[in-house]
Parts: sequence; C-alpha cells; structure tokens
Amino acid sequence: MLAPKIVLVTGANRGIGLEFVKQFLLLKSPPKYIFACCRQPDTAEELKGVAKGNPSVHVLKLDVCDQSSIDNAKAFLESKVEGEGLNLLINNSAIISHADLYNATREDMAKVYETNAIGPLMVVKSFLPLLKKAASVDPSAAMSCNRAAIINISTGVASISENSSSGLYAYRASKAALNMITTNMSLDLKNEGILATAIHPGWVKTGMGGPTASIDTVKSVTGCMPVMEKLHGEEGTGKFYHGVTGDTIGW
Ligand code: NDP
Repeated sequence: MLAPKIVLVTGANRGIGLEFVKQFLLLKSPPKYIFACCRQPDTAEELKGVAKGNPSVHVLKLDVCDQSSIDNAKAFLESKVEGEGLNLLINNSAIISHADLYNATREDMAKVYETNAIGPLMVVKSFLPLLKKAASVDPSAAMSCNRAAIINISTGVASISENSSSGLYAYRASKAALNMITTNMSLDLKNEGILATAIHPGWVKTGMGGPTASIDTVKSVTGCMPVMEKLHGEEGTGKFYHGVTGDTIGW
C-alpha cells in the first residue's frame, strides 16, 4: 500500500504537481504532512484552496533555481516534522523549450538545464539529511516510497534509445541529464536505503503538454501512484518507468 507519511512535491500549484497533492489526500492512509511547493504561493489559488480544507497540506515557496528558497523550505519542513524526516520527494517542476537545431540558443539551453536538471539535484542535496532520517527509522525495511524515495518526473522524450523524432533540444537534453542524475543517485543512496527512480507521466493536458495532449492530469497521476507503490527494494531503484502503462522505458 502506498502510504508515505511525509511527502514533498515541487511545482505543486498547477498541472501534474497539483494533481499529485490531490491524489495523496485520497489515499487510504494519507500522508501526515504534504509539503506542496511552488514559486509563488501568493497566487497559487487552487492549491491554497486544497490546503484550506486539509491541514496536512502546507504550501511552501520553493523555486528550484533559488537556493535560499530551497534552504528556507527545508528549514520550515524540519520545524514541522520534528525529527521525522522526509519519506517521499517528488521533483515535479520543470520548464519546456521547443527550440530545434536552428533556433536553440546558449541562453535557452542553460536556463532549461538549470531548471530541469540542476534544480532537482540541488533540491535533493538540501533535503538529503531528511530523507536519510526517514530511511533510518527502520534500517531493515526494503527501499520504497513509504520509507525514503526520490521520484524525478522525467519524460519519454528524454529517452536516447527511443528518440526517433528529434527537436526539443533543451528540454530533451535537460531531462536526459535528470535521468543520469537519477541513476547516479540510485547508486549513491542504495546503501542509505533511499530509492531514486524516474517516471514519465504520459502526454498530459497541462500548460506544458497543451490542450491536444492525450490524457488529463487525473489519468496521469492515477497511473503514476500505483507505479510508485510497486517500487520495492533494489528492483525498484534506478529505473525509468512510464507512469501510465507501468512499463519501463529504455534510457
Ligand atoms: P506545467 O507547465 O503545468 O507545470 C510546471 C510546474 O513547474 C509549475 O508548477 C511551475 O510553476 C513549476 N516550475 C517551473 N519552473 C520552476 C522553478 N524554477 N522552481 C519551481 N517550480 C517551477 O507542467 P506539467 O504539470 O505538465 O509538468 C509536470 C512535470 O511533468 C514536469 O517535470 C514535466 O517535464 C513532466 N512532463 C509533462 C508532460 C506533459 O505532457 N504535460 C509530459 C512528460 C513529462 P509556475 O506556475 O510558477 O510556473
């Protein structure tokens, strides 16, 4: 059963991130705390509406490109959880660029890499002591999203082995880097009992996916939740899953 006690989601004010928050609240055993992070809590009306009716949801400011906001969010989380740590960190936030070979720019490549690859890595680095704390509660338990896990929301178009259409230079490259970061983390953190896996959420109707995408956020996250639930032990870490079909994707 998927039942992490303490969850953090980045980019939780809209799209897939917001739906993650909503679906965690629907679990049989919902988290004690959900830290729903976004760049601008002041304007996150829908998320604040969710938090209003659910005291377990805390809306936090966290811009993955701003280290001080990551540090402040970590300090807030620490003050709330009183030594319990963090069970599940979902690196969901990202930006896209549609630039192809002819209009990719140095600035665009750097900005997308900063947001989609460096940002999630820095978030993990900052929250690592809290993930370790959660993992140490039961050192004999198998790795899982209930114990201590990093889920990096990737994309099928980051797959190098399955690339057949080109384009999206910055976005594909940044997420391929995130995939490499994910496998590195899975190796570095295995002995700590912390799982790290990448999930592609499908092509989803959001600001990023656009109105013609094939599924809505409910269907996407309804698929991702059981995928996270089944991640177990060494078999579940360092993988790249399609969140809707549940199949693995080639790196
Ligand atoms: P949206 O564009 O709807 O939402 C993106 C979220 O990321 C927003 O909350 C946005 O915040 C946040 N964000 C952007 N930059 C930062 C930053 N610097 N710091 C913190 N938060 C930031 O996208 P989706 O919901 O569709 O995407 C969610 C994830 O799913 C992404 O990782 C995306 O790459 C992945 N994905 C999506 C697909 C799709 O079809 N939609 C397909 C494959 C993967 P703000 O509101 O402030 O801009």
